[in-house]
Amino acid sequence: MPTGSVPQLTMPLHIPTPLLESRALGLAAQRTVWLKMEALQPPGSFKIRGIGHACQIHAQRGAKRFVSSSGGNAGMAVAYAGRVLNIPVTVVVPQTTTARAQELLRLENADVIVHGASWQEANELALSMVGPDDAFLHPFDDPLLWTGHASMIDEVANAGVVPDAVVLSVGGGGLLSGVAEGMARNGWGQMPIIAVETEGAASLHAAMQSGHTVALDAITSIASSLGAKRVCEQAMQYAQQRPVQSVLVSDASALDACERFLNDHRVLVEPACGASLALAYEAHTALAPYRNVLFIVCGGATATIDQIRQWQSLSK
Ligand SMILES: *Cc1c(COP(=O)(O)O)cnc(C)c1O
Repeated sequence: MPTGSVPQLTMPLHIPTPLLESRALGLAAQRTVWLKMEALQPPGSFKIRGIGHACQIHAQRGAKRFVSSSGGNAGMAVAYAGRVLNIPVTVVVPQTTTARAQELLRLENADVIVHGASWQEANELALSMVGPDDAFLHPFDDPLLWTGHASMIDEVANAGVVPDAVVLSVGGGGLLSGVAEGMARNGWGQMPIIAVETEGAASLHAAMQSGHTVALDAITSIASSLGAKRVCEQAMQYAQQRPVQSVLVSDASALDACERFLNDHRVLVEPACGASLALAYEAHTALAPYRNVLFIVCGGATATIDQIRQWQSLSK
């Protein structure tokens, strides 16, 4: 068998990503800024760390198919993992999923089913399709995902970099849970996490205000990868048990950060990621206590510069 077609049962499906000290963001933020470049993962975001880990375990347990209901980066990661592991993938996406996202999934050989007006309906169909030999991959609420995501912090610690705080974006809270797990296992359990959401997708913020997870009525942000109406319980537990500060930014700030980051680092990221980067570009007061800050550049496969400019013109 040519090596390219050997199913990868034990080698991680993610790559170790570059850790850069950013001159441009450091100057803007007036402090040392480290970037963990998860945007460079083959399927475009950090999601492959957790989903790759989960898919390998499901494959070892004999899963014959992977099922996902994400038209975003989670679905992309499942499709990528399935192709590499030689396991068929079905992704059910709602009608709102862009043609580009559907195309990217099909390029990974996923079977794409378009169903329903919203994610809820697509997810219901996906769940109804999960047979006894299939594995369903949740986009954020799964301990296997968190353990996989945690590897990004191992890489930072192994590089000898110890920041004063970590900035990341929050959708359903899987990234937060994984980074918190990685920080705990590297002795960084008391190092603050700055958890960034856009104003129209502020499910962690709402949970922290209420003291328990709450379901938002609607998502009104263009940062669709942050658009989980309710965060997972694990993310809320971390927010109560370790230092986590919630910060909100506007869609316009997230979009401007995407454009500036493209100019500064020649990497295009989604607004979901731009939300975090906006803290550096705007020298946000949440950074004031810290000299040395690590930003998780979570990425995003479906962004295009045309789409970002179109949203920018709408938000002005
Ligand atoms: C999934 C995702 C997020 C949010 O991650 P959660 O685990 O849902 O909190 C943020 N940015 C990008 C690019 C993502 O793909």
